Amino acid sequence: MSFPYEAPVSQSLFDRASVVTPGGVNSPVRAFRAVGGTPRFMVSGTGPYLTDADGREYVDLVCSWGPMILGHAHPEVTAAVQEAVARGTSFGTPGADEVELAEEITARIEPVEQVRLVSSGTEATMSAIRLARGFTGRAKVVKFAGCYHGHVDALLAAAGSGVATFGLPDTPGVTGAQAGDTIVLPYNDLAAVRAAFAAHEGEIACVITEASPGNMGVVPPLPGFNQGLADLCRENGALYISDEVMTGFRVSRAGWYGIDGVRPDLMTFGKVMGGGFPAAAFGGRADVMAHLAPAGPVYQAGTLSGNPVATAAGVAQLRLLDDAAYAKVDAVSAAVRALVTEALTKEGVAHRLQTAGNMFSVFFTDAAVTDYGKARAQESFRFTAFFHSMLAQGVYLPPSAFESWFVSAAHDDAAIERIAAALPAAAKAAAEATA
Ligand SMILES: *Cc1c(COP(=O)(O)O)cnc(C)c1O
Repeated sequence: MSFPYEAPVSQSLFDRASVVTPGGVNSPVRAFRAVGGTPRFMVSGTGPYLTDADGREYVDLVCSWGPMILGHAHPEVTAAVQEAVARGTSFGTPGADEVELAEEITARIEPVEQVRLVSSGTEATMSAIRLARGFTGRAKVVKFAGCYHGHVDALLAAAGSGVATFGLPDTPGVTGAQAGDTIVLPYNDLAAVRAAFAAHEGEIACVITEASPGNMGVVPPLPGFNQGLADLCRENGALYISDEVMTGFRVSRAGWYGIDGVRPDLMTFGKVMGGGFPAAAFGGRADVMAHLAPAGPVYQAGTLSGNPVATAAGVAQLRLLDDAAYAKVDAVSAAVRALVTEALTKEGVAHRLQTAGNMFSVFFTDAAVTDYGKARAQESFRFTAFFHSMLAQGVYLPPSAFESWFVSAAHDDAAIERIAAALPAAAKAAAEATA
């Protein structure tokens, strides 16, 4: 397709980046390969807006993939960060802010009795799985196709759908041995989980799932699915790990747990809790967490874990996230969803707008999307046309049809009006798109 706007400064940065960095980016989806065109290099953000290197402003519907729930450069978070930086940026010792962040997390999320801070969601899930294996003395891990848990070797496996299968490595560099203890099952399929427990009695250390998946587009758990996982894990002596790196502190004060109340043994967090800095965590039952070094034998560590700047940002952001802030984010989400539905319906574009709290995404299909196979069956070429029309009109969507959209408490009426103004042409472009 042709792209309605050029972005010459971004293009020249991308050209330079492509010389010194594989694919020109430090995380693949940023390269726009799913939608084509020039990735926008952003230079600043304020509230709901981003400004790119060509000086063009966008309403941001990515929010750094979730963390910027208060908008960009929130004055109070910025002040907390500046104050922390002035005190020194890393000590390699315990510090006060990390205690406050851990207390804030455990106060919000009742099943998290103890928590360990790390620097990325990937580290959180990797460590939670190691802990589950160490605690149970078992090797196998159940995950679901279409769920993303960071780039942990064992969790990149996403083998064929339908039946319980041993995971095959999904990417070169992950060996059969690393993925061989991973069992990949179709999402929302409790019968498959029951069958896996029967086939591997006494061997499954844990089931890990996104609390409500947002990495295949938004595909919430069917009623009873998460509870069924928790029950099957308990009956079979395995741990239930709820990955809330995306949903945690975003969809409610207590994340998805605050919505469905299903009690995990371990949970993982990231994104919002770092306030835009690299801070993440895993936590849960105190008797399980007691197995972590130095309290117990399962090793886990990090030079920058609990970093004073990242934890100060996280504490500041979480303290600002009160009931009123979540009500605002929810209201913005509802408003944008209504506008998107209206525009696509008006143009007769087959679509499903799927929602999980204030997270949502659009699937270009008629059928309800309950698993990865159905997500992939959508007409993603329509998303490409829709995306580029929105981008040209100054609205920045996730550059893939398989990602959640994110809004913030800073999206005010003016930002929502800009989205509303862009949608009719984008919906028309989606209607007219051809594969
Ligand atoms: C983003 C994400 C991760 C990985 O976090 P990183 O900080 O990118 O390593 C893990 N799990 C889920 C559900 C995520 O959305």
